[in-house]
Amino acid sequence: MKSSKSVFRRNTPAADRRKHRQTLRWRIQSIAIIGVLGFFIFLTVMLSESKDRADLLQDIKDVRYPMQQSLLAASHELDFIQTSLEHAVISSDTTLLDNAMAIASRFRKHLHNALLLEQTHALELNEVLGSFDRYFGDAHGLSLAIITGDKALASTADESQLNAQAFQQVADALEDLANRENQSMIAGVSAATVRARESLRLGLTTGLLTAILLFLTAFFTTRSILRRINNMVSSLKSIAVGNGDMNVRIPLTGSDEMTELAFWFNTFIEKLQQVTSESTREIKRLAFTDTLTNLPNRRMFLRCLSAEIERQRDIPGSKLAVMFLDLDNFKPVNDQLGHDAGDELIREVADRLINTVREEDVVSRSPQRIDDPEPGQPVVARLAGDEFMLIISDLQEIKQAELVAERIRVALLKPYFINGMQFSIGVSIGICLSPENATEADELITFADMAMYEAKKNGKNTYRFFDPELRVATDLKVKMDNAIKLAIANDELRLLFQPKVRLSDSVPIGAEALLRWDHPELGVFTPQDFISQAEANGQICEMDEWVLGRVFDYLAEWEEQGLPPASIALNFSSTQASRRNLVDSVREIAGDRQHLAHLIEIEITETSAFENLEFVEHNIRSLKKMGIKIAMDDFGAGHSSLALLTRCEIDTLKIDKEVTREIESDQKSRHIVQSIIELATKLHVNTVAEGVEDEAQAHVLAAMNCDYGQGYLYSTPLSAEQFQRWMKEQTSLDRAA
Ligand code: C2E
Ligand code: CA
Ligand code: CA
Repeated sequence: MKSSKSVFRRNTPAADRRKHRQTLRWRIQSIAIIGVLGFFIFLTVMLSESKDRADLLQDIKDVRYPMQQSLLAASHELDFIQTSLEHAVISSDTTLLDNAMAIASRFRKHLHNALLLEQTHALELNEVLGSFDRYFGDAHGLSLAIITGDKALASTADESQLNAQAFQQVADALEDLANRENQSMIAGVSAATVRARESLRLGLTTGLLTAILLFLTAFFTTRSILRRINNMVSSLKSIAVGNGDMNVRIPLTGSDEMTELAFWFNTFIEKLQQVTSESTREIKRLAFTDTLTNLPNRRMFLRCLSAEIERQRDIPGSKLAVMFLDLDNFKPVNDQLGHDAGDELIREVADRLINTVREEDVVSRSPQRIDDPEPGQPVVARLAGDEFMLIISDLQEIKQAELVAERIRVALLKPYFINGMQFSIGVSIGICLSPENATEADELITFADMAMYEAKKNGKNTYRFFDPELRVATDLKVKMDNAIKLAIANDELRLLFQPKVRLSDSVPIGAEALLRWDHPELGVFTPQDFISQAEANGQICEMDEWVLGRVFDYLAEWEEQGLPPASIALNFSSTQASRRNLVDSVREIAGDRQHLAHLIEIEITETSAFENLEFVEHNIRSLKKMGIKIAMDDFGAGHSSLALLTRCEIDTLKIDKEVTREIESDQKSRHIVQSIIELATKLHVNTVAEGVEDEAQAHVLAAMNCDYGQGYLYSTPLSAEQFQRWMKEQTSLDRAA
C-alpha cells in the first residue's frame, strides 16, 4: 500500500499534492468533529441553563419563600398585638396585656428569622424592629395607663393618636418590605425565564447550525465520492457492455483517496487495454489466416477484395482479376496418401502459388503471406480444402490475367515429391474480371467459382474466363432457391399419380405419387428441376412430409367414396429417410388414418448420401411395423448397393428406367434385369419395372416374371381425379375382356 501510494504521488502533480490535507479521511473526520463539537456546545448551554434554574428555585425555597412567610407572620402578629391591646383596654383586663407581650416577642422572633434569612434587608428590618419596640412600648404603656386610669383622657387621646401613627408606620414598613421581597422574587423568576428562553434559542441555534454544517459536509463529501464512483461505473459499463472503448479515463481532480482509486483504475484500464490489444491482434491474426499455409483465409480474402474493388473505382481503365483455383483429383490423392501428406501437398501448392505470382512480371508487387496486404498487392488466399483464390490488381488488359493463370497452371503441374513418392496434380482455374463481370466481392467470387466449374467440365487442368451466360442460370437458381421455401405456404405444390399395373394381366394395382411445383412466375417444375435444390437448402423433408400427408388425405377420401383400394408409392429423399425422428413425424401425419398405412409404399434410393445407415435401417423397421411397405428405387442404376437389401426387409425392388429402356436392344441390360428379378424372387421381394414405354418391353418383362410395370405405355402421371377415372376404365375393360 505504501509503495502504491508513492507511485500515485510520483504520478500526481505537485499542486494537487499540496492539497493533500484535504483528504477524504479528513473530511469524514471533520464530520465527526463538527458533530461532537456541536453536541458539546449544546450540552453546555443546556446544563448551565438548568443549573441557573435550579439555583433560583433553591433560593426561592430556602430564602424568598420563608422570608415572605416570616414577614407575613410578623404582619399578622402586629395585627393581633393591636387587637389584644384594644381588647385589654376595653375589658380593662391586664392579663390581655401580658398576652400582647407574648405576641410581641413572637413578632420579634419572626423578624429575627427574616434577618437570619436575608442580610440585604438587615438595615430595614432593624429599623422596623426599632420602630416596633418604640410603638409597642408606648402602646403597652398607654394601655396600662388607661386600664389603671393613671392618665387623663385628654392626654390619652393625643397619645393614642400618635401611637396609632407609630403602628401604621411599622405596618407600612412591613408591607413595603414584603412587597419588595415579592417583587424581587418575581423579577428573579422572570429574569430566569428570559435566560431560559435565550438558552433554548442558543441551544437550538447551535443544534441547527451543527446539523446544517454536518449535512453540507456530508453532502459534498458523498457527492464528490459518488460522482467519481459513477464515473468509474459508467466507464466500466462502456467497456463491458458498450463498444468496449478502452480509451475512457477518469479525470484526476483533487488528491484524495478517490483520486488515488481513479488513478489506479486508469492504470488498470491501461494495462487491460495493452493485454486486450495484444490478444486482439493475435485473435485477428488467427481469424484472418489459414493456419495450414499461413495464407490469408476466406474472411481476409473478402476484406482485401472489397478494399481492392473500392480502390480500383478511382483508377480509370484498370482491371482487377479474381481467380478461383481448385486442384484436380486432390481427394483421391488425399485419401490414398493420408491427411498429413495431403496437408504437405497443400503447403507445397501454396508456396508455388506465392512464388509464381511473385515472379510474375505483370504484377508490380509481391504477394504477402499473412496479415494485411497493402493496397495493390496481389493476394493469394486459401478458402478451404484444395480451393485457393487470387486477386491480381491494376491490370491493363485481360491478357495479363491469362498469363498469370497459365503460369500457375504450369507451376502446379510440375511433379511433387512427398513421403518419397512422386506424383502430379492439375488445377482448374476460373477467372472473373472487375468491373467487366461484376463490381461486388461476393458476385466476383461466385462468378469465378462458376468459371472454375466450366474449366472442370472442360477436362480440368485449364483455366476459363467467366461467361455472362452462366449468370442467367445462376439467377434462376437463386430465385428458385428463395421461392422453394415458400412453395408449401403458398400452396404451390401438387401431386400427380402415375399408375402401376400387374404385368401378367395388365390389372391396375395403384400408382406412384409424383410431385409438381407450379410457380406463378417461374412456371411448372418437375422434381428433376427442384429436388436437388430442396435437398441442398433442407426444404426437402418438409416437402416429403407434405406428400405423405396428401397421400393419406387422398386414400381417406377414396375410402370414404367407396372406391377400391389402390396402393400408392411415394418417394422419400435420402435426407428424409435417414432423419432421426422420422417415425414420430410419420405417426403424427397418419393420425387417425393409420389403418391406411398398409396401402402406402415408400420408395427409397440407396445413395452415398445416407450419412447414417443405422438410422435408415431403424426407420425402415419402424415404418414396416406401422404397415408401410418399403421399395428400393432406381435399382440397377449406378449407385445401388446391396447393403440395405441384406440388412432390412425390403418389399419391392424398383428396376431403374434406364435399365428398362435398354432391355430390348441391349443384352447386358436384359441380364441385369434378369438377375434383379431372380434375386428378388429368392428374397421374396416384388419387382416393379419403371419407364415401360412400349408393348415389347412389357412382354420381355412379363416373360422374365417381373411383377409390375409403370411407364408411359400405361399412362403418364395423372391428376387424382384422372387417376381414379383411369382406374375405373381399366377395371371395366378388364371385366369386359
Ligand atoms: P423416380 O422415382 O424414378 O420417378 C419416376 C420418374 O420417371 C418420374 O419423373 C416419372 O414422370 C418418370 N417416368 C415415368 N414413366 C416414364 C417412362 O415411361 N419413361 C421415362 N423416360 N420416364 C418416365 P419425375 O416425376 O420427374 O420424378 C423424377 C424423380 O424425382 C423421381 O424419380 C423421384 O426420384 C423424384 N421425386 C418425384 N416425386 C418426389 C417426391 O415427392 N419426393 C422426393 N423426395 N422425390 C420425388
Ligand atoms: Ca420413385
Ligand atoms: Ca425410379
